[in-house]
Amino acid sequence: MMIVARTIDEFRKLRSELPSPLGFVPTMGFLHEGHIALVHQSVDENKATVVSLFVNPTQFAPTEDLANYPRNEESDFRLLEAAGANVVFAPQAEEMYADNHETWVVLDHLTRRLEGTIRPTHFQGVATVVSQLFHIVEPQSAYFGQKDAQQVLVIDRMIRDLHYPVLLRVGETVREPDGLAMSSRNTYLSPEERLAGPVLRRSLDLAEELWLEGERDAERIRKEMTDLIEQEPLARVDYVSIADTRTLDEIHVIDRKALVSIAVRIGKTRLIDNAILPPGEPLIARRQP
Ligand code: AMP
Repeated sequence: MMIVARTIDEFRKLRSELPSPLGFVPTMGFLHEGHIALVHQSVDENKATVVSLFVNPTQFAPTEDLANYPRNEESDFRLLEAAGANVVFAPQAEEMYADNHETWVVLDHLTRRLEGTIRPTHFQGVATVVSQLFHIVEPQSAYFGQKDAQQVLVIDRMIRDLHYPVLLRVGETVREPDGLAMSSRNTYLSPEERLAGPVLRRSLDLAEELWLEGERDAERIRKEMTDLIEQEPLARVDYVSIADTRTLDEIHVIDRKALVSIAVRIGKTRLIDNAILPPGEPLIARRQP
C-alpha cells in the first residue's frame, strides 16, 4: 500500500522502515506517462520507490505560471499507486522554505546557458530543492527525464561537486503519438496550438537527418531548424542551440557529443525539447556514486 507523507517529520519516520536500495523520482505533480516511466524504472531497479510531489515556488520567476501550474493530486496518487510507488512525499512550501530561508545552491556556469539565459533564477531553485530533497529522502538513485536535459546536467554536476552518494539515472523522453514531448504544460495549449506542437520534434528530426548526411557545421543546422520552426505561424523561437554536453557552450563544428536543444513559444506556452548527436548517445555517462 502506498503511503503519503505531508511533512518532513512524517516522511523521516517512514524512511527508516524502507528497504535499500531506494529510488527517488522528484516531480511537480500533474503526472503523465513521462513521469510514470521514471517511476517504473525506479521500481524495476530498487527495493522501494519514493516520489515527491512539490510545485517548487523558487524555480518560477514572478512572471511565470506558479499560481496557475496545473494540479491534480487525486489522479497523481492513483497513477503512482498503480505504478508501484511506496511513499509519496508531498510537503508544503512553508515547510520547505521557512520565512527566513537564505541558503541556496548556485552553480556557476551550466545554469547561465540555454534556459538560464531566459530564466536566470530557475536552476538555483531547482538545485536548491533537489538538494533539500536528497537530504530528506536519502535515496541511492534518483530518476530524471532527458526531456529537461539541462536540468540533468545541472543535477549531475551538483551530485559530483557536493559529493552526494546518489546515482543519477536518466529516463528517455516520452512523447505523444505525433512527437510532442509530454509535459504538464501541454495542457495550456488550445486545440489549434496543440496541432503546432510537433514542430519541435520535427526540427530535432531534421538536425539528426542533416548530421547523418554528414553535415557538421552547427550554424547551418541551427539555421535549417530555425527556418523549419518559423514556417509554423503559431511558433516563436526562443533559442535553437547546439552545445557541448559538458559545458553547454555553443559549438561551431560538431566534432564531439552535442546537445541539440530548443525552446519555442506557441502562443503563451513555452515548450522545450532536445536530442543528442550522435543520435542515440546517452546524455551523461553512467557512473557509480
Ligand atoms: P516536472 O514534474 O515537470 O518537474 O518533471 C519531473 C520529472 O519528470 C523531471 O525529471 C522531468 O525531466 C521528467 N519528465 C517530464 N516530462 C517528461 C517526458 N515527456 N519524458 C520523460 N521524462 C519527463
